Amino acid sequence: MSMAAAKKMTYGVNTVILLLVFGLGYFFCRVNAPFLIYFSIPTVVVYLVGYYLIAKELLHIYVWLVYIWITLYMSMATVCLGYSYGFHLYCFSMIPVMYATEYMAYKLERRSLRALYVSFGIEAVYLICTGYVSVVGPIYERDQELAAFFWIFNAIIVFGFLIFYINYLIKMVISSEEKLREMAQVDRLTKLYNRHYMINRLDEASSNSETDFIAMADIDKFKNINDTYGHAAGDEVLRVIANTMKSICSDCDIARWGGEEFLFYSEKCKNGKELMEKLRKKIETTPISWEDGEIPVTITIGISMRKKNQSVDDWIKDADEKLYYGKNNGRNRVVTQK
Ligand code: GH3
Ligand code: MG
Ligand code: MG
Repeated sequence: MSMAAAKKMTYGVNTVILLLVFGLGYFFCRVNAPFLIYFSIPTVVVYLVGYYLIAKELLHIYVWLVYIWITLYMSMATVCLGYSYGFHLYCFSMIPVMYATEYMAYKLERRSLRALYVSFGIEAVYLICTGYVSVVGPIYERDQELAAFFWIFNAIIVFGFLIFYINYLIKMVISSEEKLREMAQVDRLTKLYNRHYMINRLDEASSNSETDFIAMADIDKFKNINDTYGHAAGDEVLRVIANTMKSICSDCDIARWGGEEFLFYSEKCKNGKELMEKLRKKIETTPISWEDGEIPVTITIGISMRKKNQSVDDWIKDADEKLYYGKNNGRNRVVTQK
């Protein structure tokens, strides 16, 4: 998440809380709870200062201030009115907010509160204020007529916070994991798997399966393409060839093994030779458009079916040797036998 997005979200949260404070201030006037009316004044000031802190990107100070104040504000309301109004419930909503904030700060490389310690602090405040009300009773013994309304209203808000923040946290974690997984497994230029992924994939394959197939493909005279048309054209050739490979060999796992080298892997492949021949022909007959012209491209491929108990290294070496044989014997061909 960028700083701009974090600021936008925090502005939204600050505005929602400020509106709630005005609503609650009106209610405290109605039930004639003077202490809570006075307490609403510094509360409004806190949230106005909040806008300034967000604008100055001092989010960690904003977060400290708001969490302390909400906990204080809701504890005061509980001690004054009793917990039948449900103000103490806000302590529960604070906890996922704390964790989401710690996570967000970590992503933004900013300082943050340790959610674990603050959560214990919130728990202590909760126990003190509800304990006080249970033992001594609320300061203002008011008509309980509005208590049910407030209980429901506060519970809805608290649930809203819980659901929103937990959902937000999980979505953030999932999207980060997806991004990391992609970075760890996928080649940026071609969007094929990378070598690291393919090695793991082959290591997982059973060495008893003699229907397992790999093919090592290499673009012919690719250096000449770079030298003639430029490096950007070379990159475009790699992208287009990778897409052709994906569309023709949709049942294979394909990795960019090195610069202009690709490794195909498939379990239970009966027609590997025909498939690779089809790919070779398609590439040979489809020159790649570049600026006003076209770049002719060919590839050479070495195929290897796995032998019983053959190691992954030997299996790859066999495909590589067949590719090498193809390079030394005219290029633009599919080799199954050396
Ligand atoms: P051969 O037919 O024997 O394979 O010849 P070749 O020219 O394809 O092989 P060589 O190994 O001599 O050259 C490969 C070239 O691929 C050299 C390197 O600069 C280029 N290359 C490697 N990775 C990239 C890349 O990501 N983008 C571009 N544009 N070129 C790359
Ligand atoms: Mg090459
Ligand atoms: Mg090469």
